[in-house]
Amino acid sequence: MVTTHNLGFPRIGKNRELKFALENYWKKSISEKDLYKSASELRRQHWSDQSKLDWLPAGDFSLYDHVLDTSFLLGNIPGRVCSRSGDRLDYYFRAARGRGVTDTASDYSINACEMTKWFDTNYHYIVPEFDKNTAFSLQAGQLIEQINEARAQGFKVKPVVLGPVTYLWLGKSKDGSNKLALLDNLVSVYAELLSTLERIGCEWVQIDEPVLVLELDQDWQHALRKAYYQLQSIPVKLMLATYFGELLNNLQLTCELPVNGLHIDAVTATDEVAKVIDWLPNHKVLSLGIINGRNVWKADLYRLLEWLEPIHSALQDRLWLAPSCSLLHIPVDLESEAALDSEIRSWLAFAIQKLDEIDILAKALNHGRSSVSSQLEENSIALNSRRQSARVHLSAVKARINKIDDKTAVRKSPYRERAIQQRSKIKLPFFPTTTIGSFPQTQKIRQARLDLRQSRLSEKEYRTLMQQEIETCVREQEALGLDVLVHGEPERNDMVEYFGEQLAGYAFTQFGWVQSYGSRCVKPPIIYGDVAHTHAISTEWIQYAQSLTSKPVKGMLTGPVTMLNWSFVRDDQSREQTCLQLALAVRDEVLALEKAGIGIIQIDEAALREGLPLRKSQWKSYLDWAVRAFRIAASGVQDTTQIHTHMCYSEFNDIIVAIAEMDADVITIENSRSGMELLSAFDQFLYPNEIGPGVYDIHSPNIPSVDSIIELMQKAAQRIPIDRLWVNPDCGLKTRSWDEVRPALRNMVAASRHLASHF
Ligand code: GLN
Ligand code: ZN
Repeated sequence: MVTTHNLGFPRIGKNRELKFALENYWKKSISEKDLYKSASELRRQHWSDQSKLDWLPAGDFSLYDHVLDTSFLLGNIPGRVCSRSGDRLDYYFRAARGRGVTDTASDYSINACEMTKWFDTNYHYIVPEFDKNTAFSLQAGQLIEQINEARAQGFKVKPVVLGPVTYLWLGKSKDGSNKLALLDNLVSVYAELLSTLERIGCEWVQIDEPVLVLELDQDWQHALRKAYYQLQSIPVKLMLATYFGELLNNLQLTCELPVNGLHIDAVTATDEVAKVIDWLPNHKVLSLGIINGRNVWKADLYRLLEWLEPIHSALQDRLWLAPSCSLLHIPVDLESEAALDSEIRSWLAFAIQKLDEIDILAKALNHGRSSVSSQLEENSIALNSRRQSARVHLSAVKARINKIDDKTAVRKSPYRERAIQQRSKIKLPFFPTTTIGSFPQTQKIRQARLDLRQSRLSEKEYRTLMQQEIETCVREQEALGLDVLVHGEPERNDMVEYFGEQLAGYAFTQFGWVQSYGSRCVKPPIIYGDVAHTHAISTEWIQYAQSLTSKPVKGMLTGPVTMLNWSFVRDDQSREQTCLQLALAVRDEVLALEKAGIGIIQIDEAALREGLPLRKSQWKSYLDWAVRAFRIAASGVQDTTQIHTHMCYSEFNDIIVAIAEMDADVITIENSRSGMELLSAFDQFLYPNEIGPGVYDIHSPNIPSVDSIIELMQKAAQRIPIDRLWVNPDCGLKTRSWDEVRPALRNMVAASRHLASHF
């Protein structure tokens, strides 16, 4: 008999209940007790949603983040968060977001812990902090409570914990000491944890070590061996879980670790399954993550059965089935999507539906295909409809892709020649000032959008309101004296969703929320078919803005790589193919703007870095096609049209060559928080085109002084010829208020004028 289990379930709730409970608690409109009650109701709901499985996860739920929970479980709580009065929950939220509910404005000086991307997903975790004196101590109360809670409700659970080596790997040493020196103490606390779990009657414990899919040096490989050899004496069964990629050179090591079961991501590492079966000792259970926990498509159940039946005959009871990874990364329930086109809906599976698929596969293996014949048939009908749908395959798009040649991806002349032509056409001072695109998304703007959606405003009334916003924004920028203006993006809810909604091949959900961090969620659109540009999307707005002013207005677009990385993508063609289609669609929009008389066009690639593969050895191939996609989008225009791009990060060093190959005329980039750290990237390689190193941190409400901006730009001018420098903020201003934006930009313009007259 195969056994079924799940690695983790989305916590946020079908209707984002957790988000609202948290935000209400932070606003003090509900009590701590109410918050705990909502959390426990959610857990009950989630266990009941998973109840078809043999083993349900416990401890995967989190009020904010599971890595932060692990820090609390291990007693690794940063001293500064408990230096002030408050209870454990206050400490927890201080670590997560800099403030507990008992803190008042005068207490807001505590720095929250850093947050960073969880492997190659769009989920962000709270980075554990270490120094050479870090000592761990077990604080398992909360985990035990959740296990007992599940049992009291009649659910059979296996606790989920983050493994010691991955925990260390994910953290940051604050004093530069070697994190691995903490391993012995850490493992002894894990030993105590596992003994405790065994004592309260847990049969299996899932221990996650996703670092096993990364490039590990010998020290880290050794740490894994050491940790698991030490833990093997505890008589609880360990299911070691790896996910998000192939094991490659860690395969043998992984198979040999002394645990009772191994889970691998059989979606990304399909080709490794046979090898793992060869290497895995006979007494170990193998859990295959056969259903994609990172995407929203129905699985091909017949094809999976063809593959699994012989594996099942060989492994028998040693075979377990699960999703490839925790379901944290996908929406909860497709049933909520009543408004979604029914044909497209029939192709999809969200968390709950994915677990149904596991159940069907297990039944087919355990009791024969005939025991689930109608479900299998239904699945196959849906898959056939998707394969053959005329909405998925547009021959015109495929024909265009085939016609892409080297010329499609290069500008007519090299940057140096273009720059001369652009300078004579667009007259700009030295140190020209601009912004990244968005201006404050005021309550009024959001209300107008809501009113349009709920039909309290007509399309026409909405348009008039947006035009008024654009006019206000243009007048403000003129008054501030900026050189290159923008329209301010009031009409955009989100930089990906806005464009996706108007391209063929994209579908949108109503409730498809996925946790990004804490209470924040995103609702990634779904690319289901060939992407095509069917009409001009942005021209009307940008042209309107341009009609109001004699200053140049920059047209704003979202680039193909960012559209790709912030969407759920097709699984029936490569990411690269989908990205090429997006590139052609963006190219059409760029050309439409140029034709409408817009001479400066920015193609944002905020998420280009996010798409980097986990293993460095695979970076080049990603960067090659990603850069090419950007160039295809950008290269249709005349030499005189100035192409900008924007990226919101300063970790630039390792990809600067690729970014230079994008060959944008101007790049604006984050930088102020790192104090021009990005300039160190130029030690080996000087960025060859124009660059605007962001001079002020838009994430902070603080107003940068004229002097601080001058100082940053002077540093930049030591490295980059001044005729290639721009002055701009770090990122878009949509989350700020006008009261913050006005003085900040005023200082920015003053700094630029000062610089221009002093060089
Ligand atoms: N143009 C976008 C804005 O200004 C860019 C956002 C981003 O980089 N994340 O909002
Ligand atoms: Zn940005």
